Amino acid sequence: MPADRAAEVLAHAAAARGFMPPDEGRALFEHAAATAASADGPDGPWLEVGSYCGKSACYLGAAAEAAGRILYALDHHRGSEENQAGWKHHEPDLVDPGLGRMDTLPTFRRTIHDAGLEGTVVAVVGDSPAVAAAWATPLSLLFIDGGHGTEPAHRDYEGWVPHLAVGGTLLIHDVFEDPADGGRPPYEIWCRAVASGAFAEVDAVGSLRALRRTGPGV
Ligand code: SAH
Ligand code: MG
Repeated sequence: MPADRAAEVLAHAAAARGFMPPDEGRALFEHAAATAASADGPDGPWLEVGSYCGKSACYLGAAAEAAGRILYALDHHRGSEENQAGWKHHEPDLVDPGLGRMDTLPTFRRTIHDAGLEGTVVAVVGDSPAVAAAWATPLSLLFIDGGHGTEPAHRDYEGWVPHLAVGGTLLIHDVFEDPADGGRPPYEIWCRAVASGAFAEVDAVGSLRALRRTGPGV
C-alpha cells in the first residue's frame, strides 16, 4: 500500500469526531504498525473496546489496512456514563431523538466509509463483557478505551486481556498517574497489567500507554 494512502487515512482520523488527541492518535498508529511488522509477533486480528464515532478506529485502521489485518471495533454505541446528558463529554446531536438515547453507530459508519476502511474495520455492536465472554480468537493487538468507571474498566481488563496473545500489544487510553488529571480506573487497569508480570512497558504518550504481553498470567 502506498504511503500516501496511509497519510490519507490518518487525515480522516485527525478530522473525525471523538476523543483522541493527535499525538496519541499518531502513537496508536505507530504501535499498531510496529506490531504488524514484528517478525516474531502473533498474527491474530486486532480489537478496540470503545469506538464512539470511529476516530481511534481510523488511526488503528490506517495501520491495519497497510498490514492486511482486521480491526474489530467494539461498542454498544449508547455512550459511556460520561457521555450521557448532563455529563462533561455529552454531545446532544448524537442522541437518537426517537429513542432519547445516544446512538453513535450512524456517525461511526460514516467515518469508516469516508476513510475507505469498510474492508478493514469490522463493527461489533454490543456490550463488551457479553462479547468478551463468547470471544475465542487470539488477538495480536488490544486497545482499551471503553467505559471509564471502575466496574466497566476492570471488566474490560478481565474480559479482554486474556484474549491477547503472548507477543501482542496492549494499548490503554486515559491513563492518568496524577488523579488531578483524570479518573482512576484506566490507570488502575494499567497498574494491573504492570503488576501481573505478564507485560513489558513499551511507551507512554500523553494518556496512552503501550505494553507488550510477554507471558501468561494476566
Ligand atoms: N476511542 C474513541 C472514544 C471512545 S469513548 C475515540 O477515539 O474517540 C468510550 C466508548 O465506550 C463510548 O462510545 C461507549 O459507548 C463505549 N462503551 C462504554 N461501555 C461499553 C460497554 N460496556 N460495551 C461496549 N461499549 C461501551
Ligand atoms: Mg479515551
